[in-house]
Amino acid sequence: MRIDLHTHSRVSDGTQTPTELIRAAAAAGLDVIALTDHDTCAGWDEAAEAADRVGIGLVRGLEISAEEAGASVHLLAYLPAADHPGLAAMLDRIRQGRDARVPQMVARLRELGSRITVAEVDRVAGPAAAVGRPHVADALVGLGEVQHRNEAFDRLLGRGRPAYVDRWAAPLEEAIRTVEAAGGVSVLAHPWGRGTRRHLPESRLAELAGVGLAGVEVAHQDHRPQVRRELAEVADRLGLIRTGSSDHHGTGKVDHELGCHTTEPEMLDALLERAGRARAAATGDTGERLG
Ligand code: AMP
Ligand code: ZN
Ligand code: FE
Ligand code: FE
Repeated sequence: MRIDLHTHSRVSDGTQTPTELIRAAAAAGLDVIALTDHDTCAGWDEAAEAADRVGIGLVRGLEISAEEAGASVHLLAYLPAADHPGLAAMLDRIRQGRDARVPQMVARLRELGSRITVAEVDRVAGPAAAVGRPHVADALVGLGEVQHRNEAFDRLLGRGRPAYVDRWAAPLEEAIRTVEAAGGVSVLAHPWGRGTRRHLPESRLAELAGVGLAGVEVAHQDHRPQVRRELAEVADRLGLIRTGSSDHHGTGKVDHELGCHTTEPEMLDALLERAGRARAAATGDTGERLG
């Protein structure tokens, strides 16, 4: 059983359609894949159809842009009701922040001498429901102004770089509570990668578990092996589910091939069981059946 619970499609900043992603997952020998586009559930229906056709399991998920003590933190949410009013409102607000940021980034880049336009970013983003810096980066690549996404982030778009523009993200505890209210399950994405470790020490993870956090992504390319070992020990102490995933973005991110990290079947079972309970609580269904 090979399980990958963190992937992106063109519905956010991956480079494959949901159908192409699911086909690639089957070809990579995966049995279960979660589609976790940034801040949107818009890819779920297409992914579900494709998963049915190729005969692999799909877990409907998303990766929510959250914020903890001013730092950007990503929260994976699995199996929430996409139409839950609180969740839908939170995601709308995040996507509005994404949309509003594009002309601001374009203006900064033009001041720096770029020929980029908002129309070009829109064209590159195509069907994306959640537009992001990777699309701006791709537009710059298309104009021949940078070589690849990575260079655009390093020189221009990363935090602290000249074309960086902040945007609204959901306070982390609020995001966790909202996911649970929507009948879903929360797992912190790459919590100890890219400078967020100091904001999320064991004591804070324990508090978040009390708020409703169900798990942490342990195996991820942003975590060195030693970090994975330490985080796994913390997860076990706190009773948190441990996941492992690729964070695949098609060709948009190197070294994140499908299945490069995977989740143990028992961990997926625990996650699904927890989602079942959250859903029952959210819908008032006690799980009892009259018969
Ligand atoms: P945004 O969602 O607009 O804040 O942009 C963040 C996204 O860009 C995340 O999904 C990352 O996966 C992606 N990203 C961050 N740094 C890089 C990089 N150096 N190269 C390619 N993608 C990146
Ligand atoms: Zn991404
Ligand atoms: Fe992430
Ligand atoms: Fe991701």
